[in-house]
Amino acid sequence: MLDTTLKTYGEDVFSEREIREFLPKETAAKLIATMKDSRPLDASIADAVAHGMKEWALEKGATHFTHWFQPLTGGTAEKHDAFLEPAGVALAVNKFSGKNLIGGEADASSFPSGGLRSTFEARGYTAWDPTSPAFIKRHENGATLCIPTVFCAYTGDALDMKTPLLRSIQAVTHATERLMEKFGKPKSHVTITLGAEQEYFLIDRDFYMRRPDLLQTGRTVFGAAPAKHQQLDDHYFGAIRPRILKFMTEVEDRLWRLGIPAKTRHNEVAPAQFELAPMFEDINLAVDHNMLIMEVLRQTAEANGLVCLLHEKPFEGVNGSGKHCNWSIAYGGKNLLSPGDNPRDNAIFLTFLSAIIRAIDLHADILRFSTAGAGNDHRLGANEAPPAIISIFLGDELSAVMKEIETGKSGQKAGRTAMKVGVDALPPIPRDTTDRNRTSPFAFTGNKFEFRAPGSSQNCAASQMILNTIVAESVDAICDKLDALGGDFNEELQKLLQRLIRKHKRVLFSGDGYGDAWPKEAAKRGLPNLKSTMEAIAPLDNPVNRALFAKYGVLSDSEMTSRREIAMEDYSSRILIEGKVALEIARSMVRPVVADEFSRLATAIGQAKKDGIKVGLRGLGALSQKLGAGLDDLHVKCERLEKAITKGEAVHIIAAMKNLRNTVDRLELLVDDKRWPLPKYRQMLFIY
Ligand code: ADP
Ligand code: MG
Repeated sequence: MLDTTLKTYGEDVFSEREIREFLPKETAAKLIATMKDSRPLDASIADAVAHGMKEWALEKGATHFTHWFQPLTGGTAEKHDAFLEPAGVALAVNKFSGKNLIGGEADASSFPSGGLRSTFEARGYTAWDPTSPAFIKRHENGATLCIPTVFCAYTGDALDMKTPLLRSIQAVTHATERLMEKFGKPKSHVTITLGAEQEYFLIDRDFYMRRPDLLQTGRTVFGAAPAKHQQLDDHYFGAIRPRILKFMTEVEDRLWRLGIPAKTRHNEVAPAQFELAPMFEDINLAVDHNMLIMEVLRQTAEANGLVCLLHEKPFEGVNGSGKHCNWSIAYGGKNLLSPGDNPRDNAIFLTFLSAIIRAIDLHADILRFSTAGAGNDHRLGANEAPPAIISIFLGDELSAVMKEIETGKSGQKAGRTAMKVGVDALPPIPRDTTDRNRTSPFAFTGNKFEFRAPGSSQNCAASQMILNTIVAESVDAICDKLDALGGDFNEELQKLLQRLIRKHKRVLFSGDGYGDAWPKEAAKRGLPNLKSTMEAIAPLDNPVNRALFAKYGVLSDSEMTSRREIAMEDYSSRILIEGKVALEIARSMVRPVVADEFSRLATAIGQAKKDGIKVGLRGLGALSQKLGAGLDDLHVKCERLEKAITKGEAVHIIAAMKNLRNTVDRLELLVDDKRWPLPKYRQMLFIY
């Protein structure tokens, strides 16, 4: 049962309420200030904070603590230490010092570093990020105190996802403060907000355990399309089945205790596909929370005899899963991407909008990189998710406004003059409640941008860190221009925005992103279309990107190189694993069944001939022909896949896997259903 009083909401988080209860007054005030202003923790209060945190954690049943971080594997990492310290023979006490809280040293030699750390300097260092509060993870026999941390090498090089995210938040915060000053706004707090919608599949655990491909790679490398899948659109927003609702409420109960504002739940487009969307939050917290959401989904599924698949494309032929990242900037709590009701606020809105358009146009390639990966390759551009071309959708009303600014002419006939920035009010811009254009990877949805390209399994920090940085650069570029201008502010700003829109409007696209015409049109406009992971990794070497990320201190040259290495390694490892799994299944599970059936048929045919039975021979003959040909095909295609695996080149492995899949999926529809060694799509996607 979910707690309708919401009294348990956030009870597993060491947030303001707990801080005031468990820390001395002055320490509490200092810690809260630190958390709000994103300052490093004052070392002099660390011991007092640690003591209070430990007392709280013990009350919650915690026996251990861990620094909780996000290495470059894409997942999270934790190494538990007991509070226990021996205090004499057969005596022990619970201890947790300020030192334990602030930082840690972990043997990092087995985490990917992309060459940043040689094995002889194997240590990695964790440091508490006080902007994300400590929390409790419960398990059946107790609990663990988790302290969100960054993870760096001895040199300070980032070995994780959070460090560059925090750096990028700084960058965009400073740029925003600078621009708001130009608009004469009093100094205020900048908040970058993120709401990440999480899509996932659930299947019964029994099926999962009998699919080595799902177990090892997260996706099915074989499986014939079922007659009915998502053609009737009868799953989307359908009534949620009781078993799933039980699972969802258990997920929500755990998330709410963790202070994660899980808000929306529904059936998604594909059968057995679902979505969970939390309310948006401060971006750093939202990223941590999304990592926890994925973990809670997986664990709760297991407890319910289900498996949660977070892979971008677990099943061929039906929709894959994404993670829509809704992003915005607030100043003093007011959303800057919300069109205001007075001309001054609208000028700010239009300036930020233009900055974002410029940023996406100039740096679409590196933003595309942030969504690259073996899993997402199956999804992007597959007529169910946005293409690999990064473009911006603004909607009719806003497109018209931008056009007026660009051309200096009113779009309306009635002799009106064109929109004057800072003088005129904006026409009403409706909120995108209907998801009018789901085919755009980067859509303005009334008061935020929705980046739809990221994959369901990906850490949001990857794309958000890049988005923050490129926007910071554009906002700064606009500030530089404004600095250099004299004259009337509004008029100069109008001219500046006009120039920006003229220069970067090619990235604006409101048409059908799934259509065949768009890639051609995009090519004409000179927009990059980086279709595969390997193509999308290349922009990391683009000197423009290198300079940009170095300038903002988000990723140094060597950190960029390390990310390229890790992305390539991750990609080729995953493809190689998939290839090997496919080969093993084809040879050791599928082939014996087909061979067995074929030989039974051959025996039956021989026997029938011997006995002079004529009837049925045609049917048996035709089937044995098909099975025999399939068996030969299987042999040839397995040999080819094996060769490709030996050579180790991803493109060839992928092609050989695809070829093999054709044969196996055809055989699936021929072989005796009872003997087929793998659970089928029509079972996995419908029986739960
Ligand atoms: P839709 O379902 O049409 O895409 P919603 O309004 O339901 O749109 O929002 C989807 C996600 O966007 C939610 O996580 C929501 O909290 C988030 N969101 C709403 N406003 C903002 C904002 N200003 N900044 C970031 N995310 C936002
Ligand atoms: Mg949405």
